[in-house]
Amino acid sequence: SLALEISNLHKTYDNGHEALKGISLAVEQGDFFALLGPNGAGKSTTIGIISSLINKTAGDVSIFGYNLAQQRFLAKKQLGVVPQEFNFNQFEKTKDILVTQGGYYGMRPQQAKAQADHYLKQLGIWDKRDVPARMLSGGMKRRLMIARALIHEPNLLILDEPTAGVDIELRRSMWEFLTDINKNKGITIILTTHYLEEAEQLCRNIAIIDKGSLVENTSMKSLLRQL
Ligand code: ADP
Ligand code: ADP
Repeated sequence: SLALEISNLHKTYDNGHEALKGISLAVEQGDFFALLGPNGAGKSTTIGIISSLINKTAGDVSIFGYNLAQQRFLAKKQLGVVPQEFNFNQFEKTKDILVTQGGYYGMRPQQAKAQADHYLKQLGIWDKRDVPARMLSGGMKRRLMIARALIHEPNLLILDEPTAGVDIELRRSMWEFLTDINKNKGITIILTTHYLEEAEQLCRNIAIIDKGSLVENTSMKSLLRQL
């Protein structure tokens, strides 16, 4: 079955800029998928629409068969998103950010706490659980964003440039973590990157967008053969 299906997605911003010119894309359940493209291609716009933060101009998005416009809550429950910017409350304690997020998805506090503990430990920020998020380093904030996106156990995780500005050591451990949850929990992962090595390390299938249009949609293997 399909984790994500995008049909003929268009976005024209209020200033008239046409950021997406009819993109169609399907990502299989269990895939590790890269959305590649230069700056300004429309990657963040696409992710913004999938996460309901940006209104589409036309087209359709379905997540595990749930239409994002018509079955919004069911669709959103399937999805965790890690945007580029840190958009949590910097004054809230790390652990509380996770438990609060679980509450948005109807999780019981006990269940949310257990999940929070699990990901705080697995992502190496357990020591910071009772500290306000603003006290965390950039790399730790990045990991907190990932933990928050996973708290409600989504089946699809989307990350926008997850390792931008992250040092090589942390980048490697994030790659390991993502590979692990893809393999062992079966979580479908889509990430954007303009960093080909990252896609090469992690991803089985890719799409390339440029100036709001899809220019390539293939396996990583066949992309590498073309280069
Ligand atoms: P990417 O993530 O691939 O770098 P974006 O989706 O951020 O690309 O941007 C796609 C295009 O849309 C760019 O030309 C960008 O300048 C433009 N754009 C992004 N956000 C807005 C906005 N709020 N208003 C107008 N144009 C925007
Ligand atoms: P509504 O349905 O009222 O628009 P949402 O379901 O969009 O509300 O969001 C509920 C809360 O969950 C928001 O306060 C927001 O902070 C958080 N949230 C929603 N989507 C995401 C996301 N993709 N990543 C992180 N937090 C999110």
